[in-house]
Amino acid sequence: MQPHTPARTEPGRIEVIVGPMFSGKSEELIRRLKRARIARQRVACFKPDIDLRYHRTAIASHSSQTHEATTVANTERLKEALHPQLAEIEVVGIDEAQFFDDSLVAYALDLVHLGKRILIAGLDTTFTGEPFGPIPALMAVSDEVAKLSAVCMVCGAPAIHTQRLGSSQELVVVGAAGVYEARCRACFRPYLDENESEQLILPAVEIL
Ligand code: ADP
Ligand code: MG
Ligand code: ZN
Repeated sequence: MQPHTPARTEPGRIEVIVGPMFSGKSEELIRRLKRARIARQRVACFKPDIDLRYHRTAIASHSSQTHEATTVANTERLKEALHPQLAEIEVVGIDEAQFFDDSLVAYALDLVHLGKRILIAGLDTTFTGEPFGPIPALMAVSDEVAKLSAVCMVCGAPAIHTQRLGSSQELVVVGAAGVYEARCRACFRPYLDENESEQLILPAVEIL
């Protein structure tokens, strides 16, 4: 008699897309989700409800590309929203994942062991240049990391930092152009205050 071998699920894949604001994380996530749908895979996308800049029912890029998404308050709500459709869903997308709690890491691992492909986009660092929320841990357990750069709005070099304009030191000030800009290492000023901003007289590159 053959020994009993339980049915094995092939593991899925965790793909993490990081970089500063304007580096094209949402664009890249949307591109991968659309390709999965072309391959007739069933896709579900989520984002935290902190980011309501554009749509409640979609993720959006700064270049106005969108993909349908469900807004959830935290990882627990994400689980509840995904659970009823989990058997059918093959690809799970999450944008702005830096705003989720650390339990997202364990949940991503649960999903990957169920054979799902998980696409996670988020900021790797805060406006002070510190690792952001669950993103560093997600990068560590992922199969693949795409680290994107933006264009430095001061000098045009590749930018890895998100510069907050103005003096607020709160971690979460949701906004886009005018509140934040992409900066390279040389032009990044993590603790810019009102007085310093006057000293930083550098020509800004044109936004195309
Ligand atoms: P992210 O999700 O990383 O914030 P998006 O995918 O929303 O980025 O937006 C990327 C798009 O933003 C680019 O394709 C470009 O059109 C636009 N953009 C505006 N400012 C910049 C910048 N400083 N560097 C690169 N792209 C920029
Ligand atoms: Mg984005
Ligand atoms: Zn620069």
